[in-house]
Amino acid sequence: MTAEPLRPPGSPERSSIPRNPGRHELGMRATLLFPDREIVDRYYVPLIYTACRTCYSELDPDEIMARALDGRVDPAKQRELIGRVIESGHGSTIEHVVFSFGISGVSRTLSHQLVRHRAGVAFDQQSQRYVKFKGASTMTPATIAEADDDLRDRFDEHIRGGLGLYGDLVEAGIPGEDARFVFPNATRTNLVMTTNLRALIHMSGLRLCTMAQWEIRRLFQLIRHEVFAVSPFLGSFLAPKCVPLGYCDEAGNRDEHCPIRPHKDTVLGAWAEKARAAKAAGRDLPIAEG
Ligand SMILES: Cc1cc2nc3c(=O)[nH]c(=O)nc-3n(C[C@H](O)[C@H](O)[C@H](O)COP(=O)(O)OP(=O)(O)OC[C@H]3O[C@@H](n4cnc5c(N)ncnc54)[C@H](O)[C@@H]3O)c2cc1C
Repeated sequence: MTAEPLRPPGSPERSSIPRNPGRHELGMRATLLFPDREIVDRYYVPLIYTACRTCYSELDPDEIMARALDGRVDPAKQRELIGRVIESGHGSTIEHVVFSFGISGVSRTLSHQLVRHRAGVAFDQQSQRYVKFKGASTMTPATIAEADDDLRDRFDEHIRGGLGLYGDLVEAGIPGEDARFVFPNATRTNLVMTTNLRALIHMSGLRLCTMAQWEIRRLFQLIRHEVFAVSPFLGSFLAPKCVPLGYCDEAGNRDEHCPIRPHKDTVLGAWAEKARAAKAAGRDLPIAEG
């Protein structure tokens, strides 16, 4: 029998889970520019291990690193310590390694969201002042691509109109920095993003969540794929935030339409139920009831 999730009284019916953006070819790319697999294999795990181990060792960091590099410390043991430290939230240890991505063909809608991340991440983005776009390209959301012909035609016409006007303005000598005001959010752009592992895990936690907007969610699926290719171990930490938390903390998922993890209301409800049962049996759980 499947247990019904505990839902607050009067809460709305389940909404549907957003479609996986991976099903559509969006024409965007994320490429890991640095490091390559060799560097990750040789240095990344030993370096993070050294940062973790330094906290608990009398040895100097260079000695710890030397032991990690030459195999005196079993790589499996290094990974085990790193896993425990990450799980415990000691995040500074993973700020010592960085990943640089080339991101291309994403919309300005996406880039506006991406650059909201501030801590531990650097961006450089294609300029709409200095680049004269001869053939600016755009992103079409699947809902619009699959909409009825009339709506889709009007969307295409609107986009073509904006880009056409841009071309005419530039042709007439209007500077690119002013002509760009007619560009739609759908306009594609390129960025380089460098981020330390802590920030990358944090961003992935938010952006791989099914509550994230489809395009940025797809970008982080591609990013996770790239990190996995150089290190399945480090890539395994890139997951929706509910995975390491063990519960979902998104208010918009109180109806639990996304089933990856139970909502925290459900978890707290189950805990309160357990506390009540323990109390009725004459035992107190060592926490206060909510
Ligand atoms: C599903 C979703 C919907 C969103 N909707 C909106 C929206 O409607 N409107 C909108 O404006 N934004 C929206 N955002 C953006 C969101 O509010 C954040 O700005 C964005 O996700 C960046 O995350 P962050 O704040 O964790 O920043 P990061 O820079 O990634 O910071 C990482 C962490 O460092 C710490 N930190 C960073 N800077 C500071 C600081 N100055 N002081 C203290 N601690 C700090 C925080 O713990 C923070 O979580 C949305 C994001 C998501 C994922």
